[in-house]
Amino acid sequence: MLNIVLFGPPGAGKGTQAEKLISKYNLCHLSTGDIFRANIKGETELGKLAKSYMDKGELVPDSVTISMLETEVDKNKQALGFIFDGFPRTTAQAKALSTFLSSKGTSISVMLALDVNEDELVKRLLLRGEASGREDDKDKSVIANRIKVYNEQTAVVADFYASEGKFEKINGIGGIDLIFSRLCSAIEKHYQTA
Ligand code: AMP
Repeated sequence: MLNIVLFGPPGAGKGTQAEKLISKYNLCHLSTGDIFRANIKGETELGKLAKSYMDKGELVPDSVTISMLETEVDKNKQALGFIFDGFPRTTAQAKALSTFLSSKGTSISVMLALDVNEDELVKRLLLRGEASGREDDKDKSVIANRIKVYNEQTAVVADFYASEGKFEKINGIGGIDLIFSRLCSAIEKHYQTA
């Protein structure tokens, strides 16, 4: 199974690249941010809880996020592999994912970390806020907090995969197709596709 962790700060281009990767490699895309937003739209209890954190740019607690993610993996038993987008965001989430996947006889193949400087991230997020109407992309202080949370709590997750020899840093600046080809080359280093 090809299981990818697509990693990087908010605005790095994970969603855009995930779309291209799922169609090339036939993978199931699990974005925890998208799942939370669907729950907010559906006005579920989980959605209400998640919104209280998302509105401030804080992380939703690990216990809630991990069990939600595991439920989604279990819903997709026929998947050929997964792209985890926006997950794991803490070392506890990374460890839980590793234990969970190993109980299914599989593991993460590679972490692809999109590298984009902070000025460019803020520019992209504000543009996305105008286009998509995402509330957490419109407010400069929420954007700043999301980047701070990324630097303080999430960036360290890269070390977890680096220690397993599965970390690939990808230059996230350039055209969409160029970045996509960098991602594909990194995947092929770690996983022999047919
Ligand atoms: P995203 O769409 O990935 O930018 O996520 C939007 C928001 O959802 C984040 O700012 C967090 O509040 C929440 N979120 C998404 N994924 C996670 C996660 N793995 N752990 C905790 N919170 C998350």
